[in-house]
Amino acid sequence: MEEMETNNYFESYEDLEIHKLMLEDSARNLAYKDAIFNNKQEFLGKTVLDVGAGTGILSVFCAQAGAKTVYAVEASDTYKIAEEVAKENKFGDVIKVIHSKVENVTLPEKVDIIVSEWMGFYLLHEGMLDSVIAARDKFLKVGGLMFPESATLFATPCSVPSMYSFWEDVNGVSMTHVGPKLRAKTCQKPVCERTHPDCLLSDADNVLWLDLREVTMEELNKIEVRHLAVANKKGRYEGICLWFSCTFPSTTVEPVTLSTEPDEPLTHWKQTTIVLPSSLEVEEGSPIAYDLLLKRSDENARRYIIEVTMLDPSEVEHPEYCLCHLTKC
Ligand code: SAH
Repeated sequence: MEEMETNNYFESYEDLEIHKLMLEDSARNLAYKDAIFNNKQEFLGKTVLDVGAGTGILSVFCAQAGAKTVYAVEASDTYKIAEEVAKENKFGDVIKVIHSKVENVTLPEKVDIIVSEWMGFYLLHEGMLDSVIAARDKFLKVGGLMFPESATLFATPCSVPSMYSFWEDVNGVSMTHVGPKLRAKTCQKPVCERTHPDCLLSDADNVLWLDLREVTMEELNKIEVRHLAVANKKGRYEGICLWFSCTFPSTTVEPVTLSTEPDEPLTHWKQTTIVLPSSLEVEEGSPIAYDLLLKRSDENARRYIIEVTMLDPSEVEHPEYCLCHLTKC
């Protein structure tokens, strides 16, 4: 989940510390568990594909919910751990661990449900959703369920104290000339750190909404939106904070949502901030206009280039039109 190259992508998942980091994220684990257990009737006697099973936790949830067969596909060597975990939980017969990239797998049947934890920083980092889409198109029965079934990426103008005000007083020492040097380096590069909810300067804007039953890989290549936000308090506009949520299917109770919003319990995804090179004082009610572009890198399809362009709000003539036209929500 740290920065990684395509060629060592799977090797990085051989590091058990990375799996521990995910397994310690109980907001993450429990969202999947609740979504699966709240829908036991959908799992009972059914066939499930776990795309990127890792240590096997999601496969075990599905087996515990009554699935007949769970194909646990894992490309890295962690598949061995998944086999042990399946056995330790007495589901050695239900969970069929397959050591392969899901793109290269053949299964003896189509599946009723696909479960996968594919989300990266700012949702799209790592590009693992491509593999889930490929698996869906190949293996999911018509009308089958996706866990999760939708995902939304949000953006909000924010202050970034770690990159700005921090330098004003480092234990009594003023270092304001250091900030710009550091910002020049991180400018336009995503910073993964916790954003305190008080740092958000406006309501969230939707950048992207994905129906995971239908989205195509091409739709993930370039995402371009223009937002006209309104500051809901006085503050310093220093960056754009990105986070996401995922919603699981439910026919009976309120659907489960896993949210990485700043005022939700912290997850291992934290939030992602695009830091602006210079800051702007805003008053409550001030308009803040910006373009946001997320474009897959040509060198590495698992990475995105993210660009924020500050706009003069008075020159953003038809924000409503832009919103409807450019975003998918
Ligand atoms: N499902 C586990 C692990 C999630 S991390 C959990 O929730 O804890 C994502 C896992 O997917 C990693 O172990 C990675 O090696 C695996 N993975 C990513 N792309 C894959 C692909 N195309 N085929 C098979 N496994 C993949």
